[in-house]
Amino acid sequence: MIRSITRQKSQEEITALLSQLDRIFIVGCGTCATLCRTGGAQEVEEMARRLREAGRLVTGSIVVPVACDEISHEAMEQVSDQISQSQAVLILACAFGVQTLGRQIQIPAIPALDTLFIGKERGVGLFEEICTQCGDCILGETGGICPVTSCHKGLVNGPCGGTREGKCEIDPDKDCAWTVIYQRLKEQGRLDRMRKLHPPRNHQVSLSPGKIRIPVGERGD
Ligand code: SF4
Ligand code: SF4
Repeated sequence: MIRSITRQKSQEEITALLSQLDRIFIVGCGTCATLCRTGGAQEVEEMARRLREAGRLVTGSIVVPVACDEISHEAMEQVSDQISQSQAVLILACAFGVQTLGRQIQIPAIPALDTLFIGKERGVGLFEEICTQCGDCILGETGGICPVTSCHKGLVNGPCGGTREGKCEIDPDKDCAWTVIYQRLKEQGRLDRMRKLHPPRNHQVSLSPGKIRIPVGERGD
C-alpha cells in the first residue's frame, strides 16, 4: 500500500511555529502518520506533554482516521468546541492532511511533521519511494524499475561512472539502479532497450501546481 512518509519536525521548529499561540489543539492521523510513528496516539500524547511542559495550554487532542480524507470533517466536528477555544491546531499528519484539515478550520493549521515522500512499504517499518510523479514515465523502457526515483542522480541513460560491482557510489549498501534495470531487462530478453537514448527530461510535462480535469460522464459513464 502507498503511504505518505513523514518525519517529525524538531521541537525548536515547532516552538517557533507556535510563537504567540498559547492555546493549542493537537490532531494526529490514524493512517500513514500512525504507521510512521510520527502522528499516532502515542506521538500525540507525547506532543501534548511537551507543549504543557513548555507552558502551553493543550485544549484537547484527537487522532482522526484519515487526515487527508474529507471524512475527517466528521471527526473534527466532534471536537469543534475544543477547537473553538484554541488559537491554533497542531497537526501531526503529512502535508496532505494538514491542507485538508486546514480548510476545515478558521484558525491556523500548523504542521508538526515534514512530508518526505510517497512510499511503498517493503517490510515492517521499511518504506521506499517508488515514483516522483515526474509526468514522463519511462518504466516501459526500464524493466518496470524507475531510475528517476531509485538512482541517486535520477539518471535515465544508464549508470554513472561511479557504479562499482553493481553497487551505488553514493550508497554502497544499495544496488545501483541501472544494474537492477540491466538484470531485469536481461531476464525479459529486452536488453536492446538499454541502447535507447532518452532525451533530456522535459520538466514542462510535470504539472506544477498539479491540476487536471478528468472528463467524468463524457464517455457515457
Ligand atoms: S519515470 Fe519514475 S518518477 Fe517518472 S512517472 Fe515513471 S515511475 Fe514515476
Ligand atoms: S551508481 Fe548507479 S544508482 Fe548510484 S548514482 Fe550512479 S547510476 Fe545512480
